[in-house]
Amino acid sequence: MNYSVKKIGQILNATTQIDSKIVTGVSFDSRKVKSGDLFVALVAENDGHDYVQQALTKGATAVLVDDRHQIDSKIPAIIVSDTLLALQQLGEYRRHQINPKVVAITGSNGKTTTKDMASAIMGSQYKTFKTPENFNNEIGVPLTLLTMPDDTEVLVVELGMDRPGQLTTLSELVSPDIAIITMIGEAHIEFFKTRENIAKAKLEITKGLKSQGTLLVPYDEPLLTNAQVKQNVQTFGQDIKDINSSSSKTIFTYQNTRFAIPLLGRYNIMNALAAISAGILLHIELKNAAEALQHFDLTKNRTEQLTTSHGVNLISDVYNSNPTAVAAVLATLKIIPATHKYVVLGDMLELGEQAASLHACLAETVINANVDGVYLVGPLMNKYLYPILQRRFDSAHLHQYETDQLAELIKDLQTLGENGDVILLKASHGIHLENVVNALVK
Ligand code: ATP
Ligand code: MG
Repeated sequence: MNYSVKKIGQILNATTQIDSKIVTGVSFDSRKVKSGDLFVALVAENDGHDYVQQALTKGATAVLVDDRHQIDSKIPAIIVSDTLLALQQLGEYRRHQINPKVVAITGSNGKTTTKDMASAIMGSQYKTFKTPENFNNEIGVPLTLLTMPDDTEVLVVELGMDRPGQLTTLSELVSPDIAIITMIGEAHIEFFKTRENIAKAKLEITKGLKSQGTLLVPYDEPLLTNAQVKQNVQTFGQDIKDINSSSSKTIFTYQNTRFAIPLLGRYNIMNALAAISAGILLHIELKNAAEALQHFDLTKNRTEQLTTSHGVNLISDVYNSNPTAVAAVLATLKIIPATHKYVVLGDMLELGEQAASLHACLAETVINANVDGVYLVGPLMNKYLYPILQRRFDSAHLHQYETDQLAELIKDLQTLGENGDVILLKASHGIHLENVVNALVK
C-alpha cells in the first residue's frame, strides 16, 4: 500500500497532523513494526498507545491513535475515535479500491486448509493473495486487506467466528463474491444443544456476500443446504469417485479428473472440493486445479507429515484441537498403512463448561482407533480421559504427562517405534506440542 497520512485522514474522516508522510505498510505490534508502517494503537489487554514511541523508534512513519490519548503535535498522526473501527474502515476502503474477486472461507474446521488449497488453485490463473497465517479475526482480516498487493486479482480470505455477530462484521468488510462454509461442528450433538445456532452464526457470512455471489456448502449438511439464503447456493463434495490413500497422499477422481493431494484424511477431500468448486466459479479448468493441488503451500502445523530422527513417521497436528478434529484425525490414522501406531493427545482448550464431558467422550474414538500406545498431555486429558482409558489400556500402553513434563515426553518418544511406524500428535496450540515435534525431527 502507498497512502499519505492526509489521504488516510480523508478516508477515515479524521483529524491528521504532519500529513504529507507516506505510509507503505501497517502494524499493530510495536515489536514487528517495519520502516514505513502505520502503527495502529489498538486498545486490548495492552494499550497500544503506550507503545507509540517504541513503534516510531522502530521506523513507523505515522501512528493511528484515538482522541482519548494525548499525542505530541510533531508526530505524524491520524486521530480517530476508535482505532479498531478505523483499521476496519481502512481495510474496507482498500478492498474496494483494489477490487479483486474475493473468496471468503468460514466453518468450524478446515478454514486454513481450504484457504491454502483455494489460493493454490486460483494462483494457477490469477494474481492471488491469501490470509497470512491464521489472521482471521476483526484485526487479522483488515490487516489481510491492507497487506494485499496492488495488483491482486483474487483474494482468498479466512473468516473466523467465535460468537454471533462476528461474521456479519467480517463478511461486510470483505464483501465476498464467493463464500464457503467448510462444515459445521460438532459431532457430539448431545453436548451442543443448538447445532442449529452454530449453523445460523456461520450463515452470517451471507450478510456481506454480493447479491450476485455464490455460497458454497457441503452437500451433506442439511442445516446449510436447507437454509434460506438470498444469494445463489451450490453444494460441494458429491460425486467423488475412486478414493485411495497412501501414507502421504489422498487420491480421488472428480468429474473425470484425477486429483492427488499431499494431505491425509477424508475431510481434506471435502476441503479440496470446496476449493475446487470456488475455482470452477472463477473459470479455472479442472486439470489446472489438479496440478495446483499436487503441491501447494500449507500454513504450518496442520496435519504436517514429518520423519523423526529415528526414522518414524510423524503426523503433526498441533495447531488446534477440538472433538470433531480429533475424531477426524484419528479416523485418518486408522486408514494409514503403518506397522505400529501411536497417538499423543494434548488438552483441547477453550471448550468452556463442556471441557470435562468433551474430553471424556473422546474415549470411544481413541479406543476405536486401534492404536498401540496412547500418550496424554495436560490436566484435562489426565483428569477426564485417562481414568476411562485405564479400563482398556494397561500401563505399558497408556501414559500421562503434565504440561511441564514435555521433556520427559520427548525422551519417551525418541525411543518409541521404528521405521514403518507412525506417531500422531494432536493438541490445542496452548499445550505447545510443536516443541515436542521440533525436538523429534531435529
Ligand atoms: P482455526 O479455527 O484454528 O483457524 P481452521 O478452521 O483454519 O482452524 P484448519 O487449520 O484448516 O482449520 O484445520 C485444523 C484441523 O481441523 C485439521 O488439522 C484437521 O484435524 C481438522 N479438519 C480440517 N478440515 C476438516 C473438515 N473438513 N472436517 C473435520 N475436521 C477437519
Ligand atoms: Mg485457521
